[in-house]
Amino acid sequence: MTLVAVTKTKPVELIMEAYHAGHKVFGENKVQELVSKYEVLPKDIEWHMIGHLQRNKVKYLAPFVSLIHGVDSLKLLRAINKEALKVQRVIPCLLQVHIAAEETKFGFSPDEVRQLFASEDINSLENVQIKGLMGMATFTDDNRKVSGEFAKLKQLFDEAKVQFFANEIYFDTLSMGMSGDFKLAIEQESNMVRIGSAIFGER
Ligand SMILES: *Cc1c(COP(=O)(O)O)cnc(C)c1O
Repeated sequence: MTLVAVTKTKPVELIMEAYHAGHKVFGENKVQELVSKYEVLPKDIEWHMIGHLQRNKVKYLAPFVSLIHGVDSLKLLRAINKEALKVQRVIPCLLQVHIAAEETKFGFSPDEVRQLFASEDINSLENVQIKGLMGMATFTDDNRKVSGEFAKLKQLFDEAKVQFFANEIYFDTLSMGMSGDFKLAIEQESNMVRIGSAIFGER
């Protein structure tokens, strides 16, 4: 289980407290904030980009980002591949899957994920590594609904693992669960949770 401590809007002093307590994996959802924190904080921190990422901003993260959670289009994947090549890296990525009932959330549909994995497109991208899937459940206190959405994502993850990544040990990450729903996500076998307010307080 990996805990991504989400530090958006929080000052670097607070991040350093967690760092000195031994935590090294942090997540931000805005490129500019991520880059400016990266610049001033210790270089052994693993920075995760968890928010929506615009193609024209990939270049700012490419040199150092450890994992991009929110990849929601082939175009974005291509842009990441291109910038990763420029800095001679292979950038680990998660595909964001739309599992919530809300309209506004970004992401691939489960069928779009299957199509992408079955297509040639993905094989030509040598500077990205698809490490798994990420999703956000509907914001509701209906636990059954939330659990059902997480279960659906877990099922898609298992299916993709068997059908497309059976020999790729790196396809191992299922990022789901935030402060309000991480217990439900872990019950559905999430292995990466992204938690902000439950650690650092309300924003
Ligand atoms: C802010 C954010 C989180 C953490 O949210 P909390 O409710 O504060 O734990 C997790 N994932 C994403 C994508 C976020 O933007």
